[in-house]
Amino acid sequence: MNNISLDIENIRKDFPILTQEVYGKPLIYLDNAATTQKPRCVIQKMEEIYSTINANIHRGVHRLSQLSTESHEEARKTVQNYIHAAKPSEIIFTRGATESINLVASSFCRSQCKAGDEIILTAMEHHANIVPWQIQRDIYGIEIKVVPISESGEIDLKDIEERISSKTKFISVTHVSNVLGTVNPIGEIIRLAHSYNIPVLIDAAQSIQHIPLNTKELDCDFLVFSSHKMYGPNGLGVLYGKESWLDKLPPYQGGGEMIARVSFDKTTFNELPFKFEAGTPDYVGSAALAEAIRYIEKIGLENIRQYETVLFNYAKEKLSQIENIRFIGSPTLGSCSVISFLVGNIHPYDMGMLLDKLGIAVRTGHHCAQPLMDALGIEGTLRASFAFYNTKSEINALISGIERVTRIF
Ligand code: PMP
Repeated sequence: MNNISLDIENIRKDFPILTQEVYGKPLIYLDNAATTQKPRCVIQKMEEIYSTINANIHRGVHRLSQLSTESHEEARKTVQNYIHAAKPSEIIFTRGATESINLVASSFCRSQCKAGDEIILTAMEHHANIVPWQIQRDIYGIEIKVVPISESGEIDLKDIEERISSKTKFISVTHVSNVLGTVNPIGEIIRLAHSYNIPVLIDAAQSIQHIPLNTKELDCDFLVFSSHKMYGPNGLGVLYGKESWLDKLPPYQGGGEMIARVSFDKTTFNELPFKFEAGTPDYVGSAALAEAIRYIEKIGLENIRQYETVLFNYAKEKLSQIENIRFIGSPTLGSCSVISFLVGNIHPYDMGMLLDKLGIAVRTGHHCAQPLMDALGIEGTLRASFAFYNTKSEINALISGIERVTRIF
């Protein structure tokens, strides 16, 4: 696949941070799975909102409040269209993927689970899709069943099915592993779960920026992601939930905005999506996220996917030529934008620190997936993760950086 439709040099000019030098070397930013850089239009959008229409939204009769409310609700529709949700009210703004999962775990277990019920997770989940369930487990006496991963870093549908029982209440699974890059067959997982009437949450934190997602076609019950991993601002996230589920679940937090009527005796709750949005929402962030989505759509997510695949394959091929490299996870069914590896006996932290001195930003450590590290029998990895603004020459620089560090050891 040879993508010629993306003009990367021009695209890079949209990202002010990419022109920086660190330690006198051009910045090579390969930590996109942790957070992505922001195009100028997103940064400008935030400035524009603060300088023109800033006012608390909903309920305000004055002009600025009306404009600000419109901007926030338009942003909700932009997110709705991006993931092909049936209704804007199925889009809940949260603080991030983490809060979205906490919301579902808390509201679902509180209303739908009793002692002895079971939740299924996989061994490759981020802590954000483990700990919220453990908190509920400890409150309600629920059990967590873990689907193992193969040596190549994949899960087997058979292993999910084996863990399903009459007590299974929920399956929560990542779309793309933030460590292994594995793309899980979420369509099949959802079909399997639904054949047993079990709802599914998809953690799309590592796929929303790379792979087109259609919640209607997928038929997932919940889907979560963070704005900052898709070129949008920090501190904002999304929970998509099917209306039928969101209607059924109780509120997660209480406060202003999420109520219909409050008295000291009794409070009734607002309609969707406001029932789940207690307090002043991040209406500046939502406008900037909508801008990020328009930016992605202008380039085209399919084009992005193609270009990133070329880049990923190039990186994998070049890296595999490094002596004593060991890839952590080599999924056969599909990988996405993340490569984890170790080189000889060099500690990932040492390699990461020395690469940093060359201006190369990669991540080292357990990547908030300690149970996965335990399953793999390692402490951590080096992780290079890509975005569409990365180039083959940056990957060449990574390779020569690694070779240089290897020579030092
Ligand atoms: N799930 C996955 C797969 C992730 O990679 C991350 C972020 N590293 C999260 C959830 C949590 O995202 P956030 O910290 O933005 O809430």
